[in-house]
Amino acid sequence: MAHDFQFERDQSFGEWLHREMHEAVSFEDATWAIDRIRRVEERLQVGRTQSDCLMVEVPWLEEATAFTAPGRYIYFSRRLYELCATDEQVAFVISHEIAHHDLGHVALFRGWANAVARLPGAALFALFFHALECRLYGPEKECQADRHGMDLCLSGGYSGECCLELLDILEQRALYIGDEDSVYGPDEESDDELDENATWKTKAQIWAWQRKRGYLPIRDRRQMLRKYLKRRIGSNKQKDVQDAASNGSQPIHQETNQTSSAVGKPR
Ligand SMILES: [Zn+2]
Repeated sequence: MAHDFQFERDQSFGEWLHREMHEAVSFEDATWAIDRIRRVEERLQVGRTQSDCLMVEVPWLEEATAFTAPGRYIYFSRRLYELCATDEQVAFVISHEIAHHDLGHVALFRGWANAVARLPGAALFALFFHALECRLYGPEKECQADRHGMDLCLSGGYSGECCLELLDILEQRALYIGDEDSVYGPDEESDDELDENATWKTKAQIWAWQRKRGYLPIRDRRQMLRKYLKRRIGSNKQKDVQDAASNGSQPIHQETNQTSSAVGKPR
């Protein structure tokens, strides 16, 4: 399941990693936290068979991150989780990780299993997986996961714009820890560096930066996703008009991305 494979002594890699994580770190088990996680993961995976569904867990890791690996688990760090105030923000973190499974990206980890097994502690898994993701995935696969993740959120009935608030949170967090580079990238002046009309020099700068970091700058991720959302809503409207024309009725456009009721965690 989920690109898992047999590992040492016939155990699956995903289950081995899961056991190691539980031996090394505590996992969040408060009802308010787990209720929200289950609510969101279910809504994002409606229509999948149980064996195809991924499960989200919340390890108490200091780094604000989420990662996934072959197997059935997504690890959503407690530090990142506590920064997310709404279901939509949580949904976008989870859907991005589900997307890495759906798109077959996690299969790339296979050759790294032995290196992972030699890590001295689970606290390092998060850092290692983040570094490995950057190396194995690169910006193209990260963008694919962002877009597919957004599709999953919209299908689950979440508001795309509200999901994008996650990027505001990541931006604030990066600025708080002094990582301005991951917010702005190489060119602070432009929020639209992926524009096809950008100069070759800007494009070359971005290309080199992306290769080094593995991710787009947060502002460019937001810009790319805003454009994607706009196209999605535009094509939905067009489809409504076509459907109405073939039915001989007035087009009624319903946003597929209704805002869900966001329940904040108790403070
Ligand atoms: Zn990713």
